[in-house]
Amino acid sequence: MHRFKITELGKNAFWLRGDERDHLVRVLRLAPGDDIVGFDNSGAEYYATILKIEDKSVTCRILETSHPDVEANTKIYLAVGLSKGEKMEWVIQKGTELGISGVIPLRAKRAVMRLEGTKALERVKRWQKIAGEAAKQSHRVQEPQIFEVADWSDLPKLLPANTQWLIPYEEEKTERLQTVLDRFDPLLPMALIIGPEGGFEAAEVSWAQEYLGAASVSLGPRILRAETAALAAATMVLAHYGDLG
Ligand code: SAH
Repeated sequence: MHRFKITELGKNAFWLRGDERDHLVRVLRLAPGDDIVGFDNSGAEYYATILKIEDKSVTCRILETSHPDVEANTKIYLAVGLSKGEKMEWVIQKGTELGISGVIPLRAKRAVMRLEGTKALERVKRWQKIAGEAAKQSHRVQEPQIFEVADWSDLPKLLPANTQWLIPYEEEKTERLQTVLDRFDPLLPMALIIGPEGGFEAAEVSWAQEYLGAASVSLGPRILRAETAALAAATMVLAHYGDLG
């Protein structure tokens, strides 16, 4: 059954407007009487029948509300160094399927891509859309939040103070991700800071350790590409705490 993000929720009905309405009408060509599923990022999911299709909105009658157990118990945020091309899109799409809660695009020192001003805002909008589509595809009821492009100094204020920060670093030879996860609390938010293609400068890792209390961890003996590292690390955290597999 097709899934839609609800624009406005009423007691026994909801409305779809904008892109969601257009997609339902023009691409999927659904009609009154067809059943769909709506979600509103509250954790609930609404089975509904299309009642009325108008120029600017679709009205749906709610038949049943449920709270499916699909969201991960551990909230994972990926702070990812800006990379060229479509890598960020890939991380957002696959990370959403896996169950992450948010992505912070990070201006790391060796980031190859520069993103500023309106260009950055437009890109974030596009990334948010990708997250929304992937959330539907994987039957999630909460789409991950894509944060505005951030500098290192923004990081501490973007996430709650009790966030547990991790910085996977290929030069880390003693601490391993799995070991750190044993002593972290799965019920507190977790943020993974992944370097850009060229990796982190040592000073960035020390900054994260000092100002975020981040644990620098190894993901294993092989050097992974940034996007692989991001998804592998998220997968390990989710699997470690029973949210995957
Ligand atoms: N500095 C490297 C590779 C960077 S890999 C170079 O250019 O040769 C991109 C990012 O993935 C790194 O900044 C790190 O966050 C993560 N990463 C990749 N392999 C890793 C590993 N084995 N352990 C920990 N982090 C890793």
